[in-house]
Amino acid sequence: MSYNGQFQVAPQTTLGRAFCECCGGSVQIRANKNGGAYYYCGHADDQGVQCCHSQRWGQRVSFALRKAFREAGEQPLKVRLPLKIGNGKAPAVANEDTAPPANENTAPPERPAQSLGGLFG
Ligand SMILES: [Zn+2]
Repeated sequence: MSYNGQFQVAPQTTLGRAFCECCGGSVQIRANKNGGAYYYCGHADDQGVQCCHSQRWGQRVSFALRKAFREAGEQPLKVRLPLKIGNGKAPAVANEDTAPPANENTAPPERPAQSLGGLFG
């Protein structure tokens, strides 16, 4: 099973925008020639020194980004970092406008405690 061939985009397509996890500067998440998502932060401080932090993701997150990008009409997504695989089953979904955040383990909704026959109220 490979996600690499699905929802292909042209190399260097900007899949999303995010804020650098290192310096907080705005960065563009792009696809490399294999569709893998990455960013490189060129944000410079007031001394002109660049952050140079970079990240790249594996094929599962990259697939989810490409898919969400495509489904968003090929508009760059607003991505909140860090991007993580959520529950180990479905790939993370990255567009915070239309989907729950990818980086939260969503707990099952809380249910009211069942009555125990009046013993505990
Ligand atoms: Zn940075």
